[in-house]
Amino acid sequence: MLCLSCNTETRPESIEPGLVAEQCPTCQGTWLGLGDYRHWLDQAPPLPDEAVSKAAELIEEASPRALRCPDCTQLLQKYRVAGHLKFRLDRCGACRKVWLDGDEWPALRAHGLTRTLLHILSDRGQREVRESESRERRDATWRARLGDVDYAEAQRVRAWLAGHPQRAVLLAFLLTTAPAPH
Ligand SMILES: [Zn+2]
Ligand SMILES: [Zn+2]
Repeated sequence: MLCLSCNTETRPESIEPGLVAEQCPTCQGTWLGLGDYRHWLDQAPPLPDEAVSKAAELIEEASPRALRCPDCTQLLQKYRVAGHLKFRLDRCGACRKVWLDGDEWPALRAHGLTRTLLHILSDRGQREVRESESRERRDATWRARLGDVDYAEAQRVRAWLAGHPQRAVLLAFLLTTAPAPH
């Protein structure tokens, strides 16, 4: 097949030990069969903790262009990945294959998400991502209103209150306008 990003002829490559996908030698764009993926999941050894990096680089979605399945020519559907990963995965439902741009599988690996692809593509996974994205948007709105310093302080207080056995009393106290009794 031809790479969906740069039109180079792809070839089979191991993207993980035991997992082969069609890959572009130029840009590492990857056409992954979900059947092969599922088979690999069943056999893959558990992911070591050190493979999960919190410091992975964020990748901005370049352009949300629509892609066509190289096998059946249907339009690929776009799937959110995670609130903190801004790119989309492209999937052909009919062929059960996923297109990953060259930096996307490494980004999934860096975030410890290579084993959760089927969950990401599920309705529940997509709902979770949408919820976390709208939570992020809400937080950004509050941060803009409060300013960074007060926002950080408010977050700290909120975390402290969340686990406090006297939470309700403390909240009531914070809302009182009367001077504190001595
Ligand atoms: Zn390519
Ligand atoms: Zn297809």
